[in-house]
Amino acid sequence: MTPQLTDNYMVTIAERLKSAYARIALAAKKHHRNEHDVCLLAVSKTKPADFILAAYQQGHREFGESYVQEAVDKITQLANYSDIVWHFIGPIQSNKTAAVAEHFDWVQSIEREKIAKRLNEQRPADKAPLKVLIQVNISLEDSKSGCHPDKLASLAEFIQHCPNLELRGVMAIPAKTDVQQQQIQYFEQLRACFDRLKAQYPQIDTLSMGMSGDVEAAIAAGSTMVRIGTDIFGQRS
Ligand SMILES: *Cc1c(COP(=O)(O)O)cnc(C)c1O
Repeated sequence: MTPQLTDNYMVTIAERLKSAYARIALAAKKHHRNEHDVCLLAVSKTKPADFILAAYQQGHREFGESYVQEAVDKITQLANYSDIVWHFIGPIQSNKTAAVAEHFDWVQSIEREKIAKRLNEQRPADKAPLKVLIQVNISLEDSKSGCHPDKLASLAEFIQHCPNLELRGVMAIPAKTDVQQQQIQYFEQLRACFDRLKAQYPQIDTLSMGMSGDVEAAIAAGSTMVRIGTDIFGQRS
């Protein structure tokens, strides 16, 4: 069922997870921040449930997924591990909102009212409100998803009025660049969005930015959650 997995993958994932935590700790120290203020989201999209379990057995609990059907399959497979915290981080089509509302604890990729409205309506009554982040199109690319920074305030206000959603912050995937100064500039723009929202809504506490390629820049700019896939679970094909 899970092709190409050897006994070794558990060791490999354990080691890579440890390195990811060490990388966060080092960057936090360098920028005079507390490493415990930066949460690590292990992004397990396209990887089998066994990989998630390998990280779980090392004490890791927060996992990010991007594809609804694939994620629901894994969440169902791992239903006995009820303390896993599942974050949806991919683009959301309207016809997939019910599954997301039902199975996830967090959604980091809300970019428009229609999706927020549907998630609010479809969140099961016996579950805690869905914790949500607004995805911001910080580098203003046509191809990138995310709400335009000018629309952030009105989308936040809309979410604030949804009883089954709990607004917790913002997320972005800035344009790819290897120039660290440019990375930091994008991240600082998102940080400014975060600070403005937080001034208005004090419960906001999550600034989700930084991936395998730009963890240091994100932490320098104040990230409270980095989302790492490749460096923990390996390349995706
Ligand atoms: C895939 C993905 C990640 C992880 O990216 P890596 O480069 O593999 O660390 C982080 N955030 C989002 C939104 C993703 O889709």
